[in-house]
This record gives sequence, C-alpha cells and structure tokens, in this order.
Amino acid sequence: MKIPNRKETIEAVRAKGYQIGAVMPFHYPRALLRAFKIHPMEVWGPPHIDPMEGMQHFPEYTCQIVHKATRFFATAAARDIDCILIPHTCDSLQGMASVLKDYLTMKQPIFTLYHPRGRRKSDLDYLENELRALGEKLREFTNISPGNDEIMAEIRLEEKANKLFADTLQHRQIYTVSDRDFYTTLRAGEYLPADQFIELVGSLPKGRADLHGPGLMLSGVVPEPMSIFDHINRFGAHVIIDDLACCSRRIYEANDESDPYRHLARSLMSMPPDTTISTPYNRRFEYLGSQMLRTGAKGVVVFNPKFCEPELFYISMFEERMKEQGYSFLFVENELTTELHQQIQTRINSFVEVMT
Ligand code: SF4
Repeated sequence: MKIPNRKETIEAVRAKGYQIGAVMPFHYPRALLRAFKIHPMEVWGPPHIDPMEGMQHFPEYTCQIVHKATRFFATAAARDIDCILIPHTCDSLQGMASVLKDYLTMKQPIFTLYHPRGRRKSDLDYLENELRALGEKLREFTNISPGNDEIMAEIRLEEKANKLFADTLQHRQIYTVSDRDFYTTLRAGEYLPADQFIELVGSLPKGRADLHGPGLMLSGVVPEPMSIFDHINRFGAHVIIDDLACCSRRIYEANDESDPYRHLARSLMSMPPDTTISTPYNRRFEYLGSQMLRTGAKGVVVFNPKFCEPELFYISMFEERMKEQGYSFLFVENELTTELHQQIQTRINSFVEVMT
C-alpha cells in the first residue's frame, strides 16, 4: 500500500475541516488535539533543513532537532501550520518554546506541556491538570468545545492504533519487508490520522521474514537518516527490536479511567522506561535486558543526534550493563543529516563484523 506523504495528508485532513498542529518530540496527547479538530504532525528536525539560522538562538551544544525545527518554522514550508505544541521533553525543547514564544515573531500560537518525571499520585494529578489547561487553550484557539464522549472516542481510536503499533514492533520477525520499509511504515504514524495508520500497518505483508545475520537493538531518539537501516542490512545484520524515542518508547497502556483528561494522563505516564522521564537506571536496564533476551538480539547500537543530554546521562552505564551481560555495544552520534557519513558507516560495518 502506498504511504501518503505529509503534503497529501495535510490536504486530506484540511478537506475534512482540521487545522494543522506541528508537534515537537515526543510524548503528547494526540487524541486531545484531534478532538479539537487539530491534526498533529510531528517535527523531528526535519533532516533536510539547513540549521544555520536556527542555531543563532541557542547555545552551540543544543541538539540539531531544535536548531532545524526552529529554522523550519521560519520557512515558507511551515505556512501550513496553524499552531505548535512543544512538550517539555528536555531542557533544549523547553528553551525552544521560550525562544519561539518570547523572541521570535511567530504567527502561530505556541502551546507547551510539562511532563512530570515521577510516578506518584501527585504526578498523575499534575499531568491531568496540565492536560486540562492545554484543553482550555485549545478551546480558546479553536472555539470548539468537544464533550467528554467525543474526546473518549478519539482516545479509543488512538489506543487501537497504538496497540497495533506495539504488536507490530514486538513481532518484527513475522513481517517480510526490509528494516527500512518496516520502520518507514511505522513512522508514518508521526503524521497520518489513526484510521489511515491502522489500514497501512494492517497491509504489511506477513510470513517468514528473510532476516540475515545477527539481530540488533537500535536505541536512541530518531533513526535519521533512515538509510541507517539499509547500511545495517547491507553489512549483514538486522534490527530485531528498538528502543527509539519515536517508536517503542511510545507504547502506551490502555486504562479504564472514564474521565478523558485523567485517562490521557494515566496513559501518557505508562510508556516504557525512557531517558526523558528520568527512569531510574536499574529499571531501564532491566527492562532493556529483558527485551534483548526476548528477541535474541546480540548487540545494541545507540544512534543519537549530537548533544542529546537526556540520552548522554545514561550512556556509560548503558554500555557497562549491556557488556556485562555479554552484548556488543556501539554508541554513535550523528548530525541529523540526509545521508549517513562514511565514517559512521565504517563504524557500523566493523561493529557487525565483530559480532558475526
Ligand atoms: S534529541 Fe535529545 S536534546 Fe534534542 S530534542 Fe530530542 S530529547 Fe531533547
């Protein structure tokens, strides 16, 4: 099935009366935006943007997702965007929200969402209040007041899509497509409506997958450039499981809260261990160790944009724990380019050779 591109998706959702909300990475209430007739489209860079003008607003050690997105929002290509949501994923994104709100003249309103780092009842209450405050702002912006039933209907649809997303990610070995096609399909959920995403993922061919060489866990924030999958396959390995912020770290659990804001808050706090919510080290590494065992992965490649602070806090302990358990480990920092640098290709090639 052909995957609609972003431009086609914008035209299709606009024709149905939706506004376009650009959303920065990466935990956010899709269903709430949809209930207010705002279609979320995630912005992970984009990689093809020249970051130079975006860089002047931030310290040099800010990651390129922030530099590039700031630049992107100033380009003509961003004219289709009606509002911007910036979750407080990390200090860099918090800084970006301040710069866009206070220093740049943006035509779109900037909404923020602060995530609690703890998992106590008070954290749940806090997030519920944050979501209610966001709902109020969306109400003022759109002049739409969806009832609880309407928000719950959007939540149910997103949960159906998220369950399919989770099942597909956890059963990589039954899909007869390349790693790149597999992840391109799943990442289309970053901009497609849930019903279209369900249809698209449902069309992935199943059977006995032709996966060569050792299986890897690909960890990190976002696999850009996507050609990293081609190189891993070409060098004789495959990605059997991921710990990517844009993919497996966004598997949320369904719950039975009947109030939509409480429901969304509980759901958004149910993601797997994640660097950006400061999951305790032991919990994160025990979880990742169990995923390695479950899938038979032989090594870990951590692939990150440069200067990603939340990921860097964990990296040395991550390497130590994985090596203690007998796994190979490679940490690569990348510039969020459209092509993978030759030097990084060589490092991945050597890593796979040592594993086989
Ligand atoms: S790459 Fe890291 S530092 Fe940059 S926005 Fe994402 S989480 Fe924040």
